[in-house]
Amino acid sequence: MEHKRLRYRNQQPVAANGPVLYWMQRDQRAIDNWALHYAVTVANERQVPVVVAFNLVSKFGHTTQRHYDFMFRGLAEVAGSLEAHNIPFVLLRGEPIETIPTFVAQHQIGEVVVDQNPLRFTDAWREAVAATLPVRLTEIDAHNIVPVWLASDKQEFAAYTFRPKLQRQLKSWLVDIPRLPETVSRWSTRPAPVVDWDEVQHTITGDTAVSPVSWLSPGTGAGLARLKQFVSTGVGYATNRNDPNLNCLSHLSPYLHFGQLSAQRVARTVQVSDLPRTDKEAYLEELTVRRELTDNFCFYNQNYDVLAGAHPWAQQTLDEHRDDPREYVYTREQFEQAQTHDDLWNAMQRQMTQEGKMHGWCRMYWAKKILEWTTSPEEAIEIALYLNDRYELDGTDPNGVVGVMWSIAGVHDRAWTERPVFGKIRYMNFNGAKRKFDVQAYIDRYQTYDKQLFA
Ligand SMILES: Cc1cc2nc3c(=O)[nH]c(=O)nc-3n(C[C@H](O)[C@H](O)[C@H](O)COP(=O)(O)OP(=O)(O)OC[C@H]3O[C@@H](n4cnc5c(N)ncnc54)[C@H](O)[C@@H]3O)c2cc1C
Repeated sequence: MEHKRLRYRNQQPVAANGPVLYWMQRDQRAIDNWALHYAVTVANERQVPVVVAFNLVSKFGHTTQRHYDFMFRGLAEVAGSLEAHNIPFVLLRGEPIETIPTFVAQHQIGEVVVDQNPLRFTDAWREAVAATLPVRLTEIDAHNIVPVWLASDKQEFAAYTFRPKLQRQLKSWLVDIPRLPETVSRWSTRPAPVVDWDEVQHTITGDTAVSPVSWLSPGTGAGLARLKQFVSTGVGYATNRNDPNLNCLSHLSPYLHFGQLSAQRVARTVQVSDLPRTDKEAYLEELTVRRELTDNFCFYNQNYDVLAGAHPWAQQTLDEHRDDPREYVYTREQFEQAQTHDDLWNAMQRQMTQEGKMHGWCRMYWAKKILEWTTSPEEAIEIALYLNDRYELDGTDPNGVVGVMWSIAGVHDRAWTERPVFGKIRYMNFNGAKRKFDVQAYIDRYQTYDKQLFA
């Protein structure tokens, strides 16, 4: 495997006789996973076993029962697939700063491998664990097709500055991922009991008010089936993807978010499919340039989710319009319960709360209206991220951070004609939506307000 996909998080030595631990976090899959691939490869070279551990913390952002359900069912599949490769899967519970070093000491682990995630709270775990471990912590970017630290060495200004850099490198990075090598050394005894996922689901003290969705099955197998379906039915993606009444999106974002699918696998499958060239190009622009640009932003910008992280022009213009009168102002609760004057916005909110996935075009309109109807851009960012991460299955992701920051704070965008409240931030309105799609048909689909959700 390309050594450029990894970086060492500490200067500790490898204990060559100790097993290799892959601390799986973001990339929750047993195939097409460069971090697992690396762990097995180095373990085989040293003739030692590999073990995979997932650490479950008691609270993870705005995670709800909806997310836990999707994640646990995906992890159950991972555990089963690993077993077929003679690799034990362990579920650790608690703070990684305690659980990972304890596991390493108990099993005399020789090297710890971890996947990459630019969100600050997961990076803080890796930072703290790296400082405590007596052995090397090797981080692998298994999420991006081009590792985030190679795609660019700085925060990119916009898609047009990032695109040529990424596309140049994709030529060598976007290849088929090899099969996982067989392990040459096995654990003689299980390092932990088999996980009872139903019990885990019952004991996790997460937000139970938001229920799981039934229209999208979790797991790598289901994700691959969706991908197969998309490449056979995705004709017209280039022209129809902005119409929320047409079901033409791939619906792969939850699988990509939980790492149940590899973006590299998705991109290769689309690339070699029979889809028309225009559809392939439009899809690969979203999946590669737009998606990997969001990791770039969160990786290099410490203030990625607050106004201070925006371009200076955007901060200035929003500041200048801070005191503009707002025609409507809503509280977080009113937004959450879809109680605005705008039937279209309310329908979008209901699509998200009920189905766990708002259409991509709607997400832009939805977030921009939150800026228009709150008292400050800071409050708008906070509310948009809270709602996004609580209800979207693909929430708590760099894509969500950048989606909100693009809509509200002009990240990766340019200055537009100045207007009240928005200043020079790009504006979207109801009439623009009407020109794009049958707004009434969309509203009619999401008429009912699900009181149970907010009981
Ligand atoms: C306010 C706002 C919030 C958002 N929140 C999230 C979020 O929490 N999680 C999330 O994954 N995406 C988010 N997005 C980006 C985008 O809307 C979703 O990725 C997309 O709707 C997912 O559906 P899909 O997989 O069916 O999309 P498709 O159109 O089929 O796209 C395929 C893949 O391309 C990538 N992609 C598509 N659009 C974008 C984009 N604008 N930016 C980055 N990558 C993109 C995604 O990985 C997606 O799965 C947000 C966008 C906005 C404007």
